[in-house]
Amino acid sequence: MIVVGLTGGIGSGKTTISKCFASYGIPVYIADEEAKALMNRSKVIKRKLVELFGASAYNDKGLNRPYLASKIFNDKELLTKMNAIVHPKVASHFKRWLKKQDAPYVIKEAAIIFENNLESQYNYIITVVADENLRIQRVMKRDDASKQKIESIIANQLSDEEKIKKSDFVIVNNDLKVAMQQAEEIHKKILQKLK
Ligand code: ATP
Repeated sequence: MIVVGLTGGIGSGKTTISKCFASYGIPVYIADEEAKALMNRSKVIKRKLVELFGASAYNDKGLNRPYLASKIFNDKELLTKMNAIVHPKVASHFKRWLKKQDAPYVIKEAAIIFENNLESQYNYIITVVADENLRIQRVMKRDDASKQKIESIIANQLSDEEKIKKSDFVIVNNDLKVAMQQAEEIHKKILQKLK
């Protein structure tokens, strides 16, 4: 099965663009959402996260994402430990999911590809970019987050320039209509490559 990675910085529009591909009948796996679901569902993950972060890792609503995010934001070692608990489970869940798909290719949306040198897991990689000020405005609105917080997340991520250099395709999502046209062209190009 051909796996196309779809990545991009915070608020670039990865999930929005993934939906375009879904509308062409392409199965889409959103790694971040699946990780979140597994962190709420898997007893093994839950136990290990409580060991790592303490009982506050979960509250009565489930996974306490803001708490975990605040803990790992400036602590690379803790992030690595959390990833070691969650990533292998997501990887095996993805493998099982992939086996069930019947399509010319699938899209796997993942915020982290180049950062962890995971390029070899993908046949092609699409990077979604958008102007920084637009991304900040969009995430402020979506998450009710502060400008400063989003700026610090962006500063922590690999730059768009670096991502573009390593990508097979780029979608510029400043204007949704334009971005959707680009997504459709890329979809056609991938189908062409697979002939
Ligand atoms: P994250 O990295 O935070 O998961 P993302 O890259 O998946 O984000 P989205 O969630 O798709 O980004 O988009 C961020 C926000 O911006 C959403 O509220 C979305 O509806 C909005 N958005 C995305 N693209 C556009 C666009 N072209 N025009 C206006 N709003 C947009």
